[in-house]
Amino acid sequence: GSGRAARARAVPRRIVASSEVEQSYIMIKPDGVQRGLVGEIISRFEKKGFLLKGLKLFQCPKDLAQEHYKDLKDKPFFPKLIDYITSGPVVCMAWEGDGVVASARKLIGATNPLQAEPGTIRGDLAVQTGRNVVHGSDSPDNGKREIELWFKEGEVCQWESVQAPWLIE
Ligand code: ADP
Repeated sequence: GSGRAARARAVPRRIVASSEVEQSYIMIKPDGVQRGLVGEIISRFEKKGFLLKGLKLFQCPKDLAQEHYKDLKDKPFFPKLIDYITSGPVVCMAWEGDGVVASARKLIGATNPLQAEPGTIRGDLAVQTGRNVVHGSDSPDNGKREIELWFKEGEVCQWESVQAPWLIE
């Protein structure tokens, strides 16, 4: 046969089903890319046991940066924030797992890196709020919204890790 039914049969259902599991949008900011911290930062989420569903190096246009940070548009630092985020390529990531949003915020640490705990990404790798190397969604709803904002259809992959049974009982 042809068409949608045949394609659906050719691919196992779990591969085509869209994910209901919590997802967080994590982004390595231009300073993290320039400072050679991409591998280090990705590694922390990988080792923790979250599932990488989307990943790309991307030069962010101004209008996308403004949309992403629209809640901060009245802050005095907003123009500088937009210049910072668009100053070089960022690494866009979609990470998945139960509780990933809150857990990623803990792995990332406080907004001001001088207040971030040692052991966190910002606590270990940064010194200033305006150069805090990484973004993480602040709620599951924003995780979904931001992944839809930064990724195009087809850029977020559906897959299962062979590690899954060793991470989740
Ligand atoms: P977080 O990124 O920890 O969720 P916010 O949502 O409050 O923090 O702010 C978004 C980003 O805006 C911060 O990560 C930081 O890059 C920038 N930012 C926040 N506050 C300031 C500030 N006072 N001065 C400069 N940049 C700031």
